[in-house]
Amino acid sequence: MIKQMLISDLKKTCENCQGSGFEAGLQEWGGIQTNLSKSCRICLGRGFNFTDLGKKLWDLYLPKLRELIREEILKN
Ligand SMILES: [Zn+2]
Repeated sequence: MIKQMLISDLKKTCENCQGSGFEAGLQEWGGIQTNLSKSCRICLGRGFNFTDLGKKLWDLYLPKLRELIREEILKN
């Protein structure tokens, strides 16, 4: 339970792409419109970003967090 809360506090759904990982809508490149799916430039296609808290903790506790996240993944 505590681990679950911790991890959800560390990252948040990307507001730019609404968690899809792709840029929404048409974009114009050199006068040519394209609707090719492009990875979101904000979250780099991950669909989420680290919160400020997450960034700080990530630097401080990276090894421990990796362990916790791996446990969560194995459980699910
Ligand atoms: Zn994004």
